[in-house]
Amino acid sequence: MPTDQYEFGDPRSRYPDVSPEPQTQPEPGLQSRMTPVPDLGEDSYRGTGRLAGRKALITGADSGIGAAVAIAYAREGADVALAYLPDEQEDADHVIEQIRAAGRTAVAIPGDLRDRSYAGRLVEEAVAGLGGLDALVSVAGKQRWQPDLLDITDEQFEETFDVNVFALFRLVKAALPHLQPGSTIITTASMEAYQPAPDRLDYAATKGAINNFSKGLSQLLVERGIRVNIVAPGPTWSVLQVTGGVDPESLPEFGSSESPMGRAGQPAELAPAYVFLASQESSFVAGETLNVNGGMVTP
Ligand code: NAD
Ligand code: MG
Repeated sequence: MPTDQYEFGDPRSRYPDVSPEPQTQPEPGLQSRMTPVPDLGEDSYRGTGRLAGRKALITGADSGIGAAVAIAYAREGADVALAYLPDEQEDADHVIEQIRAAGRTAVAIPGDLRDRSYAGRLVEEAVAGLGGLDALVSVAGKQRWQPDLLDITDEQFEETFDVNVFALFRLVKAALPHLQPGSTIITTASMEAYQPAPDRLDYAATKGAINNFSKGLSQLLVERGIRVNIVAPGPTWSVLQVTGGVDPESLPEFGSSESPMGRAGQPAELAPAYVFLASQESSFVAGETLNVNGGMVTP
């Protein structure tokens, strides 16, 4: 494991190939119960003031990529409002502790993104708790593998779209009145937006929709001085994978077959992309998808 994200070295061996044992948990799962526990950068992410004074609302901030982003943002000087499901409080507490240890404010706003009234309440409580809002970071997502199209129920199909796409629409709508020029919106697509896997057709379709929606939104909002960008992760070791996201039998091979680097990524390796896109250093970047996937080439 690197001492910090700047340490020079071979990216293929920066983190070990996790090769996890098959394991399952009911959704949404607790990252703290995984073997091995994903790396959120607790011992390695070093901030340099890149987001000093910023106010960010991050969904899915209790675990995985969203949690690594929350920790990185706090260490870069931002105050953070965290959205996650009430069942994930234990994971969220760990992240809140990290944010407070960085000397920043953490505002916890648990709720269910399927609940139509949550987006409005989430934004209002974030704005009240942070004293404003200038970064909306949507990381929450639902993924459930199924061997065949016939195994995908109407309920699953609708729920995946509800969490991944409809909730994003509601969230952006609620946040927009609070965003001033300079603010940024970052959404989370996936490699699946370009290379849909046959065992997660609903999920992959939502990721295509997120990518498309965000690029269109970018064109609308750039005229108001608000930049919208997308991060598209590749295989990343997170609790999403062990809560029915992929076939449990495939876990020992997770990431190593698809990624040219021969290993899955860690959430800590995704965080710098979200820092860059929120920071003013990306001031001329809008409507862009930043792929962080271990070298898989995208259109
Ligand atoms: P994760 O399980 O740690 O994070 C997903 C989060 O989504 C959960 O912690 C939960 O808080 C939130 N969520 C799910 N359903 C919700 C609901 N109904 N209401 C509120 N919150 C809800 O897994 P992760 O891998 O860090 O996923 C983060 C994002 O990255 C997702 O959008 C996922 O699609 C995307 N992604 C992950 C990978 C990967 O390999 N891990 C690859 C590409 C894209
Ligand atoms: Mg979680």
